[in-house]
Amino acid sequence: DHDIHIIGGGLAGSEAAWQLAEAGFRVRLSEMRGGAGTTPAHQGDALAEMVCSNSFRSDDGDSNAVGLLHREMRALGSLIMRQADATKLPAGSALAVDRDLFAGGVTRALSEHPNVSVVRERIDALPSAGPVIVATGPLTAEGLAASIGAATGKDSLAFFDAIAPIVYRDTIDMDVAWMASRWDKVGPIGDGKDYINCPLDKDQYYAFVQGLVDGEKTGFKEWETDTPYFEGCMPIEVMAERGPDTLRFGPMKGVGLDNPRTGRWPWAVVQLRQDNALGTLWNMVGFQTKLKHAEQVRLFRTIPGLEKAEFARLGGLHRNSFIRSPELLDGQLRLKTAPHIRFAGQITGCEGYVESAAIGLIAARFAAAELAGRSLPPPPSETALGALLGHITGGADAASYQPMNVNFGLFPPLPDDVRKKDRKLGYTRRAGGALAEWMKLADGVAA
Ligand code: FAD
Repeated sequence: DHDIHIIGGGLAGSEAAWQLAEAGFRVRLSEMRGGAGTTPAHQGDALAEMVCSNSFRSDDGDSNAVGLLHREMRALGSLIMRQADATKLPAGSALAVDRDLFAGGVTRALSEHPNVSVVRERIDALPSAGPVIVATGPLTAEGLAASIGAATGKDSLAFFDAIAPIVYRDTIDMDVAWMASRWDKVGPIGDGKDYINCPLDKDQYYAFVQGLVDGEKTGFKEWETDTPYFEGCMPIEVMAERGPDTLRFGPMKGVGLDNPRTGRWPWAVVQLRQDNALGTLWNMVGFQTKLKHAEQVRLFRTIPGLEKAEFARLGGLHRNSFIRSPELLDGQLRLKTAPHIRFAGQITGCEGYVESAAIGLIAARFAAAELAGRSLPPPPSETALGALLGHITGGADAASYQPMNVNFGLFPPLPDDVRKKDRKLGYTRRAGGALAEWMKLADGVAA
């Protein structure tokens, strides 16, 4: 009753299902949430739930690699990008969304698509016949994870990812905090006052850092102790342990933020970003943590402006599993030893919502071509899609393989004579031409 089976209805699986359905193929989309299980990070049943930040990061397609990825995905009819654009919130040059409206929109679009059946079931072993796309993410349920381990003959690699807390807006003291974007930068839908800023003076800051270092952390199981952190999502207390000023030059930096009550930049700052369309929920930017919940509440209430804060969600920490893709997958994201199975999303070792959805999109385009009896070459390495795919399926050293966000370092170098200030635009212009060529091959594929 279906042409292809997609396992996992997260960012990658949802995008993959949409792409295949739009090409005319019948999709069975198996998602365990909503009846058959959940993960330690997800809160609800919606497809494409964003588990932590509500941001798809920079939307600047001219000078930022993830912004370029947005642009390429839009060109390829991405459902994730369409829903993100439809539910966006003020966030400077970033693309932040109301997470519930976003996931609700994705869920509706797929549930209503005549070619998609969303089945709320947990899959406990890799199917023996295909075609299949496995997009079960960094928190793949145990049975399937074991089956993947058995099929790949390797232990999955793992690292830690952390979640930042969310605060109710009406519990923030706006007589202390104030609204501003750094350097008053005005984004496409904001007014240059997109963030809530809580100022700390020197004494308050160092007391806070000491509190982080001394605070009680959630325990680690033994097998977790030498698992590395992903640098982009490092818990604040781990940063604090690196030195008293690390946070002041990281997520707590005060530069470019004039406190209207003093006319000066604060010694340090805690920024909060709008998390839902109503503006009732705000997340603490960069404040992912593994402190015990009671400890978080106590310590965060020492931050000026947050003395009476109530939390809609506290920070947390989770294991994050992925496979050694450069060794295990071919250039079409197929498992070399069982090519009826493709992998997509974070389990392949990309990092981030956008990257996960992008790999879902490419996996689906490859699968669609195969179902139509054609072959589709990978997107050119000059494109963000191709550069990211190249990292996963070949570019990286398999032994030291680590999850990676898309970045210009993954692109083929520009000619030496391109000047430094022109380089970002050089990458993105070159990508535009390369994508247009590839789309001529990709867009004719249909059932
Ligand atoms: P997911 O979105 O997790 O989707 C996988 C889906 O598969 C889930 O819905 C799950 O329920 C389902 N599933 C799992 N096993 C089975 C099974 N056996 N049968 C059926 N269904 C199954 N990225 C960011 O860009 N920003 C962040 O702030 C961010 N924070 C993160 C915080 C944490 C704790 C973690 C773990 C990751 C975070 N990431 C973040 C990284 C990553 O971008 C997200 O995890 C992203 O959701 C990955 O997309 P995915 O589709 O690969 O997996």
